[in-house]
Amino acid sequence: MATIKAIEGRSIHQIQSGQVIVDLCSVVKELVENSLDAGATSIEVRFRNHGLEAIEVFDNGKGIAPDDFETIALKHYTSKLSSYEDLTSLETFGFRGEALSSLCALSKFHIVTARAEDGPKGKRLDFETSGKLATQSIIAAQKGTAVFVENLFFNLPVRRKELEKNIKREYGKVINLLQAYACIGVGVRLAVSNQLAKGKKLAVFATNANTATKENVANVFGAKTLLALAKLDLKLELRPDRGPATQSAHSWSTQADKSLEVLVQGHISKPIFGEGRNAPDRQMFFVNSRPCLLPQVSKAINEVYKAFNVSQSPFIFANLVMDTNAYDVNVSPDKKTILLHDQTALLEHLKASLTEMFDTTDHTMPQ
Ligand code: ADP
Ligand code: MG
Repeated sequence: MATIKAIEGRSIHQIQSGQVIVDLCSVVKELVENSLDAGATSIEVRFRNHGLEAIEVFDNGKGIAPDDFETIALKHYTSKLSSYEDLTSLETFGFRGEALSSLCALSKFHIVTARAEDGPKGKRLDFETSGKLATQSIIAAQKGTAVFVENLFFNLPVRRKELEKNIKREYGKVINLLQAYACIGVGVRLAVSNQLAKGKKLAVFATNANTATKENVANVFGAKTLLALAKLDLKLELRPDRGPATQSAHSWSTQADKSLEVLVQGHISKPIFGEGRNAPDRQMFFVNSRPCLLPQVSKAINEVYKAFNVSQSPFIFANLVMDTNAYDVNVSPDKKTILLHDQTALLEHLKASLTEMFDTTDHTMPQ
């Protein structure tokens, strides 16, 4: 008798969903990115009991059209990408069409949504674990979408236990992630709160739909933080045939002689200031405003900073602005890892340019 058999569809769905939604951070990341993709200018993230009980994200984006209700939570259904080629010119955060379907499989999940033309009436949508629409009912709602994720991982006992055990750490990580979205989100109000079991609602932070990232940083970390920061505004010209890294094997473009310009924009502690010995919570990296992990870039910046301040690490808010052809976001289902096509050259230019900046920075304490 044959022993190799296909896994049943329901189990495949659960296995794959567990790779998209790995922790509290992935839930929040996917939902906030969906709100941003929907053009929201106001996003509210509410945790109940640090997210253990529920994570709720409210936005004032465009809402969901009734024609999309049936497919919205089905796996690989997306309004953002239809072929692999579209990936190179991607301007949205989402593209895999997996987040909502995965949340249906791993939590008690529902949506409330209304478009501008729907007036004060919206729809509450409930789904089956497969992502199939189960019921829809009329409900009072403002324009926008609210997504409710309750009892995350209720059907994955081991993961649920882990989440309960590590909830304070997980919650800390998710707040750091939200701080990154809040700081980069120019023109977007992002408010975060946590409702504790005892009924007390704590406001964690809120930005003000500011016009500059500097104001966002002040809203999130306090106005005093700004005193310690220098503006980061570097222009790196990466050329395959010149510059520090000439022998790059990889080309970011099919035209080998084309140069690539990378702008590094944001804020960094002046070397006379620091954030204590270990300040990973205050180091945020972005590629074209997409928060992501850039361990090598982080290492390079910290190294340069160390030459000017041996005992502390800096606050870093660094947004790398570059051609969408010059990196790949489709490395892992959670899209946190980004592959930079010519990282070696980029790092060398970055270090040289940052050293030059610090060499000419005013090293006196502000009054
Ligand atoms: P993706 O973001 O990769 O497309 P998702 O599963 O996150 O996949 O979302 C599926 C689709 O649902 C999106 O393409 C979008 O059309 C719609 N959607 C999700 N969240 C929202 C929201 N907050 N407002 C409006 N539409 C949304
Ligand atoms: Mg999405």
